[in-house]
Amino acid sequence: MKDADVVIIGGGIAGVSLAARIGDRARVILLERESMLAAHTTGRSAAVFTETYGNAAVRELTRASRDFFERPPEGFTGHPLLHPRASLFIARAEDHARIEKFVGENPGMVEWLAPDEAVRRMPVLKRGYFAAAALEPGSADIDVHALFDGFRRLALHQGAAIVTNAEVAALERGARWAVVAGGERYRAPVVVNAAGAWAGVVGEMAGLGNRGIQPMRRTAIMIDAPENTDVSGWLFVNDAGEQFYFKPDAGRILASLADETPSPPCDAQPEEIDVATIAWRLEEATHLNVKRIRRRWAGLRTFTPNRTPIFEFDAAAPGFFWLAGQGGYGIQTSPAISQRAADAILAAL
Ligand SMILES: Cc1cc2nc3c(=O)[nH]c(=O)nc-3n(C[C@H](O)[C@H](O)[C@H](O)COP(=O)(O)OP(=O)(O)OC[C@H]3O[C@@H](n4cnc5c(N)ncnc54)[C@H](O)[C@@H]3O)c2cc1C
Repeated sequence: MKDADVVIIGGGIAGVSLAARIGDRARVILLERESMLAAHTTGRSAAVFTETYGNAAVRELTRASRDFFERPPEGFTGHPLLHPRASLFIARAEDHARIEKFVGENPGMVEWLAPDEAVRRMPVLKRGYFAAAALEPGSADIDVHALFDGFRRLALHQGAAIVTNAEVAALERGARWAVVAGGERYRAPVVVNAAGAWAGVVGEMAGLGNRGIQPMRRTAIMIDAPENTDVSGWLFVNDAGEQFYFKPDAGRILASLADETPSPPCDAQPEEIDVATIAWRLEEATHLNVKRIRRRWAGLRTFTPNRTPIFEFDAAAPGFFWLAGQGGYGIQTSPAISQRAADAILAAL
């Protein structure tokens, strides 16, 4: 039996960032099923920071995270966490209402751009594909590795224990929570459910239901840049109708179908049809010629029914904390969510 103040289930960005925030003030044990951290959704993102993404609550969380990205704590990382990259949103005629709503919801953050100007900025786009465009100048690429590793090192430095190959198989509620994982038994007054796509499963294991949490598969590919073209300064291009997005990534182009296919929690794999559809849509909207797909992958973005992340104690079960439903914004919101989750947990200890 191992005792702690807080047992965190899940070694993705959610669990590890929380461990970093409370490791100096509570005895923390983080349990991860896999042999390495960040093997699931956290390791499969598009690494974008955009303050206009998601509903109002998500946008507030992202905006509240910006300061951490720009001024991380002393010693957190030797690399900048953000690399500026403006986002270009393009809309076909049938998606005009969507882009209009989007621009209206983000005053001061996005501006209309004449389609000819959009093509001047991104000549790879076919002028005939879209009828309207808008620019978000303040978005950025995230160095996810530096962010995650900063949180991981901070958690360890502050005394948190991180245990891999430790799949939580049972949760028992008593005066304290008992957690069975990897042949060991742990005991703590607070258990944190940061299990990503498995958050619903862990909630059910605790006898608390799954709160309607639903993983959704999203597919991405990496392709070569056009020959003799430096793509490093390209914009992050987003189709307002959620048909696709693409951006440069280390000399190549990362593109996604922007798909949301409901999936059980699993090690998500890309479907051939989705990979082919990304290539087809890219060729329809741009002058890119997708000759060879260098890499393909899929990950599960996990949503609550209202698409707002939850970071709160379960009303029916003292000591059970939900840190779940980060959807497609769990990296960019991690500084604010981990801070707010830490404040709630430390106040309860
Ligand atoms: C294609 C794609 C693009 C994305 N792009 C962006 C982006 O540009 N910007 C952004 O901010 N976000 C993006 N996201 C979303 C972001 O990646 C997620 O919101 C975030 O990674 C979720 O982190 P997490 O820690 O909740 O989940 P995970 O990283 O999946 O971590 C959960 C962990 O819990 C572990 N676990 C589960 N059950 C158990 C158990 N019983 N016992 C022990 N361990 C367990 C799992 O093994 C896993 O390691 C993207 C996602 C995808 C798929």
